[in-house]
Amino acid sequence: MDRIFNFSAGPSMLPLEVLEEAARDMTNYKGSGMSVMEMSHRSKVYDDIIKEAEKDLRELMDIPENYKVLFLQGGASTQFSAVPLNLMVNGKADYIVSGQFSKKAFSEAKKYGDAKCIASSEASNYTEVPVISKDDIRPDADYLHICFNNTIYGTKFSYVPETGDIPLVCDMSSCILSEPVDVKKYGLIYAGAQKNMAPAGLTVVIVREDLIGKASPQIPVMLDYKIMADNDSMYNTPPCYAIYVAGLVYKWIKKIGGLKGMEEINKKKASILYDYLDSSDFYKSCAKKEFRSMMNVTFVTGNEELDKKFCSEAAAAGFVNLKGHRSVGGMRASIYNAMPIEGVEKLVEFMDNFAKNNK
Ligand SMILES: *Cc1c(COP(=O)(O)O)cnc(C)c1O
Repeated sequence: MDRIFNFSAGPSMLPLEVLEEAARDMTNYKGSGMSVMEMSHRSKVYDDIIKEAEKDLRELMDIPENYKVLFLQGGASTQFSAVPLNLMVNGKADYIVSGQFSKKAFSEAKKYGDAKCIASSEASNYTEVPVISKDDIRPDADYLHICFNNTIYGTKFSYVPETGDIPLVCDMSSCILSEPVDVKKYGLIYAGAQKNMAPAGLTVVIVREDLIGKASPQIPVMLDYKIMADNDSMYNTPPCYAIYVAGLVYKWIKKIGGLKGMEEINKKKASILYDYLDSSDFYKSCAKKEFRSMMNVTFVTGNEELDKKFCSEAAAAGFVNLKGHRSVGGMRASIYNAMPIEGVEKLVEFMDNFAKNNK
């Protein structure tokens, strides 16, 4: 079978070029006589791989010198605990709940101190993102936590909350590297890699230096940003192969024009799909217009049986993983960086035929 168009929300598509390069070097990485999977993380050859990956990520995101880049394990979900354990130094943190992941992050933070949900869009089924102002944040909060792109609902922040001196902490798992980001506006950014960066197993944390080193001594060593930073993400064995693939993905993005170039392509893909949805009376887009995600496009026909039929016929035609998250139903097309424009064009063609045949 040929490669198909995979609209999975994560783990998701990787650029074909990246997979082909990894395949070429699979059994003998650049004359080392071994696979990247087999080499010591302390070896010179691997050291070059991780250093180069960090350098390229810093360049792509224009990460200032006073931020550490950490390559960790445990997924974004581990950060739901690591963030409060490291940053809740005065025992207070504010959260915006804009979907399931931010709700989970908030629930976890409550175990460690006075976590407060200052705004939620749960009442509108997360079809929008709460808009807040600085006055909504408690002045003595240790940080404000947000989830920028809500993978399950297909929404994203249309703005970056103004927080003054209060560090802004952001889960960017499903939108990192999809468009330029002003890192300086954030105290900490984290992302599980399996949506837009690499295979599962790697979590990237970008954290301002002055925020680390204040955790209580009971913090589990593997969650302590200070330990990880002081050891260049090598306190123990890092997720070596995932970091290697992330490095290849960073080079691929650099080649197509960095985050500006990536954004241009992503905007184009999203508008092809949303323009079609807006022009159709058969499908309905779920997210409120001003909060539409560029990465996860959610839609329904309004008839659950028809949604099911859509997903199975789409899969048979080579468009897989279009079923919406089990908690919301309907359809979701995840069109991350690696999804080619052609995949979205062909999907729209399929959607249009399906609509005509099922009116
Ligand atoms: C997928 C996802 C998570 C969970 O990531 P894991 O790496 O599976 O823990 C958290 N937040 C967002 C926004 C996600 O998309």
